[in-house]
Amino acid sequence: MKGQTEVSEAVVNRLPRYYRYLRELYRKDILRVSSGELADMMGVTASQIRHDFNCFGGFGQQGYGYNVKFLYHKISEILGVQDNFSAIIIGAGNLCRAIATGPIFTHRGVRLLAIFDNNPAKAGSTVAGVSVYPIEQLHEFCGKNRVDIAVFTVPKAAARESAERILGTGIRGVWNYTNMELDLSTHGIAVQNIHLGDTLMTLCYTIKERSNEA
Ligand code: ATP
Repeated sequence: MKGQTEVSEAVVNRLPRYYRYLRELYRKDILRVSSGELADMMGVTASQIRHDFNCFGGFGQQGYGYNVKFLYHKISEILGVQDNFSAIIIGAGNLCRAIATGPIFTHRGVRLLAIFDNNPAKAGSTVAGVSVYPIEQLHEFCGKNRVDIAVFTVPKAAARESAERILGTGIRGVWNYTNMELDLSTHGIAVQNIHLGDTLMTLCYTIKERSNEA
């Protein structure tokens, strides 16, 4: 397998989609899938799929298509699903509740260990069965538990403060919902800035364009 560094960001960004579709096939006990079938399901071309998989060595399609179980496990491995990553959330508000309540972590092999908040009234409560701790206890908690990912669901104004809080904790990635663009690369921390509102705006734009065309 080629090293991850040689794989383009565009390919890496498509891997979670492959993972989702393959998980579906695997759960339905489907044993083999061709690049053509997978392409039809996903709305991409078969050559795109072959190109993407070739970046990781090809995954051995031989006439009958790919072995679903093998491919699913291989992509899980590449994405780190089997690495047992652990996460904490900072900001025990509504967005935190939505994220913590759904299967978004468990489906991707990430364990949600704890939630932190600066509102003393929230400390001691639970969200989706996960304990909420005072934010002041974050460092101590990370000293006792390996935490890989921090999810920021605090308001935008608290984004920088939250970023500073995680420095020196061993946290290696931030899933940032604050709407404040964060770059922590100088600290060796990867950030995914999520702008939910942007996708809604793109949708509004598309609807508007279509009604203009009509
Ligand atoms: P609620 O009204 O229940 O607080 P909300 O989703 O409307 O929910 P937000 O204002 O978006 O609340 O804040 C999200 C959460 O982030 C809240 O629980 C808030 O107490 C917490 N929070 C705000 N600032 C910080 C901070 N600097 N550090 C940690 N948590 C914070």
